[in-house]
Amino acid sequence: MEFAQFHPTALAMEGAPRFLISEAVRGEGAWIVNRDGKRFVLDVDPRGELAGRDVVARAIWEELERSGERCVFLDCSPLGARAAVRFPTIAATCARYGLDITRQPIPVSPAAHYMIGGVTTDLDGATSVPGLYACGEVAHTGVHGANRLASNSLLESLVFSQRAVHAALGWAGESPPGQPRPTKVTSRPRASTLDPRDGWNALRDALWAGAGVVRDQTGLRAAARSCDDVVAATSGGTTLSTMQLHAAASTASLVCAAALAREESRGCHLRSDLPQASDQWYGDLVMHKDRGARFDRHL
Ligand SMILES: Cc1cc2nc3c(=O)[nH]c(=O)nc-3n(C[C@H](O)[C@H](O)[C@H](O)COP(=O)(O)OP(=O)(O)OC[C@H]3O[C@@H](n4cnc5c(N)ncnc54)[C@H](O)[C@@H]3O)c2cc1C
Repeated sequence: MEFAQFHPTALAMEGAPRFLISEAVRGEGAWIVNRDGKRFVLDVDPRGELAGRDVVARAIWEELERSGERCVFLDCSPLGARAAVRFPTIAATCARYGLDITRQPIPVSPAAHYMIGGVTTDLDGATSVPGLYACGEVAHTGVHGANRLASNSLLESLVFSQRAVHAALGWAGESPPGQPRPTKVTSRPRASTLDPRDGWNALRDALWAGAGVVRDQTGLRAAARSCDDVVAATSGGTTLSTMQLHAAASTASLVCAAALAREESRGCHLRSDLPQASDQWYGDLVMHKDRGARFDRHL
C-alpha cells in the first residue's frame, strides 16, 4: 500500500478539474519550467522532462517546496502550433479555462494517480477469502513492481479481469451452494459526529502533507494519526457517506502504516529520511487483519 504512484503533471488551475496533461506532451518536446522559466528537472536528471514518472514528480514536488509556489509550468512553445493539433483534447480542456496551450504555459503539479498495492491476489485474481476475486486497480497481483509503467491498466482490465472471471466461474461450479457465508457484522451501529465533508478534507490534507510524493517518518506519523482519527470518528456509522469515508480512512491508514514500515526508498515510494533502496526490503509487505495488522515479507 506504500506504492502510490503520482502523475507529475496534472492541470493546476483554480476552478478547473485535476485533468492529467499526458506525458506524451513532454515526449513531443514540451518543457517543464518554473516561474522564472528555468528547466529545473535538468538539475536532478540529465534526461530532463523525459526522466521517469517518479523522478519528474519528485523534482516538481521539491521545486514547489523550495519556491512555495502552487504549480510549475508545462511550456508547449517548442511544439508551436503543432501542440493543439497533436493534443486536441488537452488543448480544448485548457481552452475551456481560458488557456491557449500554443501560446501560454500550462500550470501543473503532481497528483495521485495509481495505487500499485491493493488486495493480494494470485495470478487468477483469487484473494485469501474463498470465492472472493479481485481484479483491476484494487488488486495487487505483483506485476507492477514498485513503479508501474504507464498504461499498464490495460493489463489489469484485459488480462486479469478475464482470468478472474474464468477462475470465479470455475470456483462457483465446483463449490457447494451457500459458500462462503457472509461475515457477521459485530460492531454496534452508532451515529457519527463527524461531518463527512470535514472528514474528506482532513484525509486529503493529511495524505498530501504526510504521505505525498516525498515522505518521511515525522510526516507519515502525523498523517497516520489524522487518518486514525477519521477511522475512529466514523466507526460504526450507518449512513452511506459515513461508511464510504470510513473505508477511505481505513485505506489511507494502511497506506501510512505501510509507508512507515518500509524503511527505504524504492520506485514511487520516496522517503527523504531514507533515500536509498535496501536489499533488506526487497519484496512485498502484506498486512494480515487476523494477525494484528503485522507485516509479513512475501518474496
Ligand atoms: C486521471 C487518470 C488518468 C489515467 N490514465 C491512464 C492511462 O492513460 N492509461 C492507463 O493504463 N491507466 C490510466 N489510469 C489508471 C486507470 O484509469 C485505472 O487504474 C483504471 O481505470 C482502474 O479501473 P478499475 O475498474 O480497476 O477501477 P475503477 O475504474 O476505480 O472502478 C471501480 C468501480 O467500482 C465502483 N465501486 C467502488 N466501491 C463500490 C462498492 N462498495 N460497491 C459497488 N461499486 C463500487 C466505483 O464506483 C467504480 O465504478 C489513469 C487514472 C487516472 C486517475
